[in-house]
Amino acid sequence: MPSSLSYIPFSPPRIDDKIIAEVTATLQSRWITTGPRVKEFEKRIAQYVGIEKVVCVNSASAGLELMLRWFGVQEGDEVIVPAYTYCATANVVVHCGAKPVMVDVNADDFNINIQNIEKAITEKTKVIIPVDFAGLPCDYDELNQLVYNEKIRCKFTPRTLEQETLGRILILSDSAHSIGAIYNYKHTGALTDVSVFSFHAVKNLTSAEGGAICLNLPTPFNLEEIYKQLRTKSLHGQTKDALSKTQIGNWRYDVCEAGYKCNMTDILAAIGLVELERYENDMLVKRKHIFDKYTEAFSKDERFEVPVYETDTKQSSYHVYPLRIKNITEKERDVIIQQVAMQNISLNVHFIPLPMLSFYKNNGYDIQDFPVAYDNYAREISLPVYYDLTDEQVERVIEAIYNFV
Ligand SMILES: *Cc1c(COP(=O)(O)O)cnc(C)c1O
Repeated sequence: MPSSLSYIPFSPPRIDDKIIAEVTATLQSRWITTGPRVKEFEKRIAQYVGIEKVVCVNSASAGLELMLRWFGVQEGDEVIVPAYTYCATANVVVHCGAKPVMVDVNADDFNINIQNIEKAITEKTKVIIPVDFAGLPCDYDELNQLVYNEKIRCKFTPRTLEQETLGRILILSDSAHSIGAIYNYKHTGALTDVSVFSFHAVKNLTSAEGGAICLNLPTPFNLEEIYKQLRTKSLHGQTKDALSKTQIGNWRYDVCEAGYKCNMTDILAAIGLVELERYENDMLVKRKHIFDKYTEAFSKDERFEVPVYETDTKQSSYHVYPLRIKNITEKERDVIIQQVAMQNISLNVHFIPLPMLSFYKNNGYDIQDFPVAYDNYAREISLPVYYDLTDEQVERVIEAIYNFV
């Protein structure tokens, strides 16, 4: 029987009067698609991250794919991804006609393993997509060094002008979880060539749907120029956006390529602007508080393995709290989630490894080749973390887990 206790969802968005007022103001302005609020949101994200150029789009998936297309990733190319991530990381590679090459992850922090990346690099490798799992930055020092390594650089075979200019493998970080996270005193978004944030409804900072491409490419790339290219690419290759076309008499435009349609709208940017303003000093503080409470409760019992979210060099964005339970099977984990659900508490699992999903299984990927990803998955339970979660509710989650493990 479901419990009569009030429902604790997994991660509802924070929607209050401030968000509603800003969305209303946008509607009243009559400018609802890409316009001044998107430009402002891009500027503020760039300031927060500490870089020059950010391009907003309508999802992180679209942002990742746009960058793969910009770099000219195509059939015959390989892109290295972790086996343990959300399907978007690999799906965008498939869209481009390239092959996602999956590698196993670390047992301690769930992130992509750098030695495994090194073993997977071939002459066909064009891009590596590391994922900052749960909000913890990957080992970017090692990863950046790896792509500059002379032996690995020699293997790189450019097929486009952009690839020739870079002269090495591109690191395109899937930072969907990690806005606000820190590595060696720098924010994610400024840690490698390109990083993409997600503002999907369940993410730390939401705009309902949305994504941001953080451009941090080395010289001689002209970031202002690339910003313009990506803007155009995200709007059908049209040389003028809707805003500049509204200027009187300025109607004529051209189309320079068969572009995509993934621009962010001002209604979404309105939500994002409010979220960003109070992100660092309010949202992140609250999330860290919840993480600390869980860790305090679960680290004192041998049966639990608490996640890494702070080290000497790293600080997470506290996106997902991935608790692991020692010596249990996948089936036993599922039973625990079911039992806790009867207490009206919603838990989750991050993630089902890609090789276990039908599409990838049917395309020849085998979970037996990724034993660490499987073990992480089989024993993992993600706990509720969201702004409005009270201390009392956190206690209820802890008690329920203790009761059923
Ligand atoms: C959510 C998520 C994405 C996709 O983000 P969207 O904005 O929904 O496209 C990509 N990668 C990871 C790891 C995610 O969790």
